[in-house]
Amino acid sequence: MRYNDFHGEKVSALGFGFMRLPVLQNDQSKIDMPKVEEMLLYAVEHGVNYFDTAYPYHNGFSEVALGELLERNGLRDKVNIATKLFTLEIGRPGFDPEKMFATQLERLKTDHIDYYLIHGLHGDQWERLKNDYNILEFLAEKRRTGAIRHMGFSFHDSYEAFVKLLDDYDWEFAQIQYNYLDHEIQAGDRGMRSAQERGIPLNIMEPVKGGNLIFPDYPAIDRIREKYGITESNAELALRYVFDKENLNAVLSGMSTLEQVKENIAITERAGVGCLTENEKACIEEIRIYLETVPSIPCTACRYCVAGCPQQIQIPSAFSCYNTAVKFGNKAAQLRSYNRSCSNLADCLECGQCVEACPQHLEIPQLLQKVRSYFED
Ligand code: SF4
Ligand code: SF4
Repeated sequence: MRYNDFHGEKVSALGFGFMRLPVLQNDQSKIDMPKVEEMLLYAVEHGVNYFDTAYPYHNGFSEVALGELLERNGLRDKVNIATKLFTLEIGRPGFDPEKMFATQLERLKTDHIDYYLIHGLHGDQWERLKNDYNILEFLAEKRRTGAIRHMGFSFHDSYEAFVKLLDDYDWEFAQIQYNYLDHEIQAGDRGMRSAQERGIPLNIMEPVKGGNLIFPDYPAIDRIREKYGITESNAELALRYVFDKENLNAVLSGMSTLEQVKENIAITERAGVGCLTENEKACIEEIRIYLETVPSIPCTACRYCVAGCPQQIQIPSAFSCYNTAVKFGNKAAQLRSYNRSCSNLADCLECGQCVEACPQHLEIPQLLQKVRSYFED
């Protein structure tokens, strides 16, 4: 395993994300513990020492699973646990960082969290945490007593908001979404440079864009790869793009099978700063340009159409499933999301309320019909 130096500590370059674990009966709360135990033991044996979970993952059972497996195998002191304060609960009755943190320690069967993050910060959440929940006092006390060893935040907002946050607190690390398609959105390349200038290392999430950059059956991508003589897998190409960058702590992968664990560990060992060849860069650029040409429904997910729909149809979700399936050639994976959130498209009354509300002037009822035919015929 390759390691990065984090303020004098060795952190594995690959972090094991505990958000896409194998489950039983398609139920996110029922984690397949024997499988996960096998994956975790293999990862630890091969040097992975960073495990990233969060309060809501697998409806709370991700933290429970990690705590149980580390305790059962006597591994707590050999690995770093990263978990997060769940910010989507801000403003809800009963939201209390102190209570949430206590629950997390209990679930994880530990008395301290190695890497604690404020989860997915965007909008005014940080200001609300400071003003309404005394978060600065909470963090100061937890850091002073050692209950939190290192403090960071994960992030989903603009570059400008990212820099403002970096400068607003004594963060030891930050965590951003970054891959070769998303290098100009959210924090992006500019945010990576700003963090490096401030000496704040970065964790990377979604390096393979939630699996979208794997392209299991995509002849157009295969032709581009052949043109450049690329033999490594698409997952490896995407991971190498990220590992090539400086100032990284752990690159997180939400692994679901033992094979993925083995493959990602092998890829990590072959990669590192400066690993990407000019040929690989050219191939990635051509894939990126190709993907931009794939036609999609120009929905911006503003959700203005949702509130007025008498049938409560999740219009942006339907368009998102369709666009992702067509763009990344992963219809089977998107069909699962479609079935979860868009099963009532046939209920559309063609009343036209959504069309009135849509700033993109989309002919939504016809487009919904097109999406339905794509997934259901
Ligand atoms: S046209 Fe269909 S999707 Fe649009 S608001 Fe009416 S029922 Fe909802
Ligand atoms: S209003 Fe239009 S652009 Fe906005 S989410 Fe609905 S369909 Fe998409």
